[in-house]
Amino acid sequence: GTIVRSARDIRSERARHLGPNLSLSYRAPLKIVRGEAQFLYSDSGDAYLDMVNNVCHVGHCHPRVVKAATSQLPVLNTNTRYLHDNIVNYARELLSTFPEPLEVCFFVNSGSEANDLALRLAQNYTGSRDMLVVDHAYHGNLTSLIDLSPYKFNRKGGKGRPEHVRVCPMPDGYRGPVKASDPDCGDKYADMAIRELRALEQAGGKPCAFIAESLLGCGGQIVLPQGYLPKIYQAVRASGGLCIADEVQVGFGRIGEHMWGFEQQGVVPDIVTLGKPIANGHPMGAVVTTRAVADAFVTGMEYFNTFGGNPVSCAIGLEVLQVVRDERLQNNARRVGERMMQGLRRMVDNHPLIGEVRGMGLFIGVELVQDHDTLEPATLEAGKLVNLMKECGILLSTDGPLDNVVKIKPPICFSADDAERFLREFDRCLALVEQE
Ligand code: PMP
Repeated sequence: GTIVRSARDIRSERARHLGPNLSLSYRAPLKIVRGEAQFLYSDSGDAYLDMVNNVCHVGHCHPRVVKAATSQLPVLNTNTRYLHDNIVNYARELLSTFPEPLEVCFFVNSGSEANDLALRLAQNYTGSRDMLVVDHAYHGNLTSLIDLSPYKFNRKGGKGRPEHVRVCPMPDGYRGPVKASDPDCGDKYADMAIRELRALEQAGGKPCAFIAESLLGCGGQIVLPQGYLPKIYQAVRASGGLCIADEVQVGFGRIGEHMWGFEQQGVVPDIVTLGKPIANGHPMGAVVTTRAVADAFVTGMEYFNTFGGNPVSCAIGLEVLQVVRDERLQNNARRVGERMMQGLRRMVDNHPLIGEVRGMGLFIGVELVQDHDTLEPATLEAGKLVNLMKECGILLSTDGPLDNVVKIKPPICFSADDAERFLREFDRCLALVEQE
């Protein structure tokens, strides 16, 4: 049987046997032994409201998803070189959630694999490899994607910007040079991106693709200003490049208003990448694209992926889509997210630390600042707050370039009662941090 170890023993075993650059959440890391819906349970039996995990999308260990896996596992799991119902049934259902002309999918095993394949598709289609990315973005852990992730290459341990990559400023209407109150905010940030495109062309390059998350995660839970993607997409396409939407964090109904984040901008990307929530924690990813882009990838070299699109993964993926629909979880994300944002915005007057509350649906960020004019980040306070909230049984994390944004991205079965409880505790813990 399994050896049950103390938290301290597990830490020393990790140190001894695992790659050393793994981090742990919280000052006193938790040993979590069980999950159910929006709750996690520690070894001492304490329940924690999980507001971090955007992977267990429809809830930890959702019984229908578990059943989909445990029904298929004892029957068959193979690669895609035999005919099987699951892959086509799932492809059909997944594609039905996308607008035309997005009609072809590829199945992989992670968000990173999805983005790497998107990159290969774009390179084949355009014959180029010059990329435009958004500052502070993270697109995955593969070599090709560290190259596209300022969040990695411009931080500690990074090797700086690769030559084939241009970085567009983050369209941050709070901290960036153009504020959200400017009616041309989206337009002006798009112009800054187009300036990078022109610089690339002047240097003799040709764009392969512009890649952006549809709402910015590692950038600090930022909603793109209206008009931002349409203007960039038009310019990039006019220069022969493709447009890739990374929906790894924000897809599958999380933003409430829409199934996909790019819909909020009124654009249709050439390639969309999916991961995290796609199979509720089972390792899976997908790339969705147009017939033209998919056909250009037919070069004579097969694209083979041993695990991608296997019958178990497809059974799980299909069930996740059906649970989102049957339990009206996208609508839940919209309703509960709105309630939470309203509650947070009502706190602004009583809490000097709150600089901005932003987001859509159950993808929300609360940026903490020392000073509302200088926007001096309250990074230490954000860390304290998250650790205090954890002591109250609520799990949160921080992110953003200055690590001062409290991230809210719970499983989307998160309820109105959970939101009330969160608001109450957040109000109380924030006051405690402010008193210090
Ligand atoms: N894109 C985005 C926007 C992500 O947030 C992540 C993961 N944090 C990835 C890609 C990579 O996904 P994975 O870790 O599944 O490879």
